[in-house]
Amino acid sequence: MPSNNAPVIVVGAGPAGVSLALYLAQHDVDTVLIETFTEANYLDQAPRTGSIHPSTLEMFADLGVYERIAPRGLVAPTFQFWDRETDSMIAEFDHAVLKDDTRFPFVLQCERIKVIDEVMQMLRGYPNVTLRMGTTLEAMAQDSAGVTAIVVNEAGERESIKGSFIVSGEGARSVIRKSLDIDFEGYKYPDQVLTVSVVHDFDKEHGYSYRNYLSDPEQWSNLFKWGQPERWRVHFPTNIDDDPELLLSDEYCQKQLQRFLPNSKPYEIVYRKLYSSHQRVAATFNVGRALLVGDSAHVNSPIGGVGMNSGVHDSVNLGEKLVGILRGEMDMPVLDRYTRQRRHVAVNHVKTITERNKKLINERDPEIRKRNHEMLHRSATDPTLAREYILRTSLMKSLEEVAAIQ
Ligand SMILES: Cc1cc2nc3c(=O)[nH]c(=O)nc-3n(C[C@H](O)[C@H](O)[C@H](O)COP(=O)(O)OP(=O)(O)OC[C@H]3O[C@@H](n4cnc5c(N)ncnc54)[C@H](O)[C@@H]3O)c2cc1C
Repeated sequence: MPSNNAPVIVVGAGPAGVSLALYLAQHDVDTVLIETFTEANYLDQAPRTGSIHPSTLEMFADLGVYERIAPRGLVAPTFQFWDRETDSMIAEFDHAVLKDDTRFPFVLQCERIKVIDEVMQMLRGYPNVTLRMGTTLEAMAQDSAGVTAIVVNEAGERESIKGSFIVSGEGARSVIRKSLDIDFEGYKYPDQVLTVSVVHDFDKEHGYSYRNYLSDPEQWSNLFKWGQPERWRVHFPTNIDDDPELLLSDEYCQKQLQRFLPNSKPYEIVYRKLYSSHQRVAATFNVGRALLVGDSAHVNSPIGGVGMNSGVHDSVNLGEKLVGILRGEMDMPVLDRYTRQRRHVAVNHVKTITERNKKLINERDPEIRKRNHEMLHRSATDPTLAREYILRTSLMKSLEEVAAIQ
């Protein structure tokens, strides 16, 4: 087995994997990045994710990523809660209350694939990074001195790659997590969510901000602006028993959009997809020299837009520790601290924020709805409460707590 001189193997070129590979490359660590998608097709992935919070923008700025993604994203200083029953705005939160806390008092709406594209271009400039595109990890082994990844390469051949550490940035279906037999505790939401991308002027026509959460006892919804020209994404819950083909039909999607905001002509739909969501956190994020980051360690409902953000936070946290170990400045037990810190965030921030958001917009009891709406209004209009609220939603509070966890 190899020693600490062998490269770190990062599996998965999602936001968590590429961020870790970049961090390691910038700290002179040899890195092999393994990704199933090929050079030819990795940009063809389904559009998902896009709300990048101030805490992550700070990290991206330190990595040199922010200046590359900023021109490709939209600045969203505010987010709003709406009551669909009365078609009225309940609360508007403005990130300006964080002006003394961060260089970035706003959210950048920038899709996952644009972030990956930019970071991959940066990685190509580092001679200490080997990109193994079109290559899939099948299995792994480890002993106290190093790790071996068994992969199938682009030519369909099986080969083994030696490393000092192996990190799963493989997403929810992580082979590494499964091969280590780590419990992925949690539950699956019973309903699927329909996401529809449309070209429309929702802000000019109705006064929506670029990020909106819509509370409705019958049909909660989210509305986000993603890009130009006037491209928006709307999410609707679906009935668990409904036929997926019907839910994705033009007629059904148009009906939902017309109920959402009546329009004199049919909406121009550019994309539609059904997805399931889970709330799960791995029992541990480290076993020996194998580690989990991002969705391989924790998955959550996307309502709140914190999944990708927290994955990038995992990667920066882990990157510091791997660099420390490889330089002989830290010892292996620091990886247990990685689990303690990042698992705390997954359970007490990411899971809590996304579960609370879902409850807030999905509540059916009229009395509780009223109380929730009053609380949101009060929080948004009082600057002290608004700052506390956004420090949590932006995951800045989570980083403060992480620093105190030994
Ligand atoms: C509709 C929707 C909207 C969302 N919106 C937001 C948002 O606004 N903000 C936010 O923060 N989060 C959001 N999320 C969540 C976010 O998309 C995920 O948390 C994030 O993509 C996870 O990043 P990751 O790098 O951990 O894994 P992934 O993005 O899943 O990437 C994993 C990569 O690993 C590769 N891979 C997998 N297995 C292997 C293997 N064995 N060998 C080689 N390669 C492998 C895959 O091909 C993929 O490229 C949203 C999710 C959805 C579904």
